[in-house]
Amino acid sequence: MSRVKKIIKGLADNPMDIAEGFIRVATGNEHPCASDRMAICDDCEKKEDDPIFGGFMCSECGCHLKEKVNSDAKCPLGKW
Ligand code: SF4
Repeated sequence: MSRVKKIIKGLADNPMDIAEGFIRVATGNEHPCASDRMAICDDCEKKEDDPIFGGFMCSECGCHLKEKVNSDAKCPLGKW
């Protein structure tokens, strides 16, 4: 599956998590676990450049990482 299709799938599969993460980032109300989660993602082979939104995405689930780590979502590989 192409990265663009993964991103679309990530948005479609996780709209509430993405919305929560987006609002947390936009309002500066970061999730208490966001930094620890992102540190794990930083060392993960599934972290990729996001060709649409910039920054980074998870190639396993298609989610943009900044929003994912700031939501109640779970790592699809159980790393956090
Ligand atoms: S969410 Fe999980 S699988 Fe995706 S980049 Fe982060 S640690 Fe890796």
